[in-house]
Amino acid sequence: MPIKDKQLPNEQGYFGQFGGKFVPETLMPALSELEQAYLEAQADPKFKQQFKQLCRDYIGRPTPLYPAEQLSAKIGGATILLKREDLAHTGAHKINNALGQGLLAKRMGKTRIIAETGAGQHGVAAATASAMLNLNCIVYMGEEDIKRQSTNVFRMKLLGAEVRPVGSGSRTLKDAINEAIRDWVTNVTSTYYLLGSVVGPHPYPMIVRDFQSIIGRETKEQVMSLYHRLPDYLVACVGGGSNAIGLFHPFFGDREVKFIGVEAAGQGLETRHHSASLVTGRTGVLHGTKSRLLQDKSGQILETHSIAPGLDYPGVGPEHSYYKDTGRATYVAVTDAQALEGFQLLCNTEGIIPALESAHAVYYAAKLAAELSHDRLIVINLSGRGDKDLDIVAQRVGMEL
Ligand SMILES: *Cc1c(COP(=O)(O)O)cnc(C)c1O
Repeated sequence: MPIKDKQLPNEQGYFGQFGGKFVPETLMPALSELEQAYLEAQADPKFKQQFKQLCRDYIGRPTPLYPAEQLSAKIGGATILLKREDLAHTGAHKINNALGQGLLAKRMGKTRIIAETGAGQHGVAAATASAMLNLNCIVYMGEEDIKRQSTNVFRMKLLGAEVRPVGSGSRTLKDAINEAIRDWVTNVTSTYYLLGSVVGPHPYPMIVRDFQSIIGRETKEQVMSLYHRLPDYLVACVGGGSNAIGLFHPFFGDREVKFIGVEAAGQGLETRHHSASLVTGRTGVLHGTKSRLLQDKSGQILETHSIAPGLDYPGVGPEHSYYKDTGRATYVAVTDAQALEGFQLLCNTEGIIPALESAHAVYYAAKLAAELSHDRLIVINLSGRGDKDLDIVAQRVGMEL
């Protein structure tokens, strides 16, 4: 019998010892209101129908499950399938969550959306959903990140969002998060805080997981109809962990399906220039939740690095920490250089330019496939397309665009 984990997180928002709500007292009522509204929405067939319809007509779901025959043949081992989140509207999985939470915000009568973004990808997803749902959108972004990500800033502005520069601290994501929380505390009645991954205080890790689980539910149906069996491995990159949990979660009770999360080893795990919170991190509290994180001996959060902007985060969703501790999933790390190999490999064999985040999963899955027989099935979550990363890749190979 498949084991169900419908009870997780528990009522306090814990997955085993991880999760919870580590926020100022002033935010507790807002989190309770959100949880209540979400549980009601989930129990309302009309809400589910609305989400489903927009997934189809706006995002373009279901995204295909594509048998990568050329890639599989080149490697000469297991059969590799690609879950094509790169074909979703806006070119990545983040829109699934942004749209779901946007609908929830409207249902709650909120008129104002706030979000924070580092690389800008979640900002673009939040701005997109807000434009479509006619909600005001304000995106907090560190001044450093604004400089580095000018294209995404322009996208958000085109979509009608206001981008608020944050000049405090290191002027990057963590400072933007602090500003967003400050805004939420001040404007809690009118404002919905739209979080971009399975992180933050309860109920966010649960809400984001549930909206992203459409990836795994579709994958299960598609693989069953193609092969009449479950896959052997699911492989996904892990930044905050939302595309990975979205793929994994619907298979939680299918114990024969192995989960592999791929983190960013950056310039190497021995260098400190990486973002491998699960592979090397220790338990601590960051941004409202207890999970594994990259911190020094005195608990100071470490600077992170990855060639993939979306993997560059010192924490990770609490459910992943739980999967790691219980052995339900295995976590590995892939370096910048290896991710670039995975990137090239997919370009050359399949004519698909992957996001650098997804390229981490491609590299690891290709290594794994080589050791397995042809009848084994590996699903890679191709979380996004690579158009956004062309500058980074060109620079690395010494080309000027
Ligand atoms: C943001 C992003 C990621 C990492 O975020 P998760 O929450 O770990 O999924 C991965 N891939 C792409 C394309 C992204 O934009």
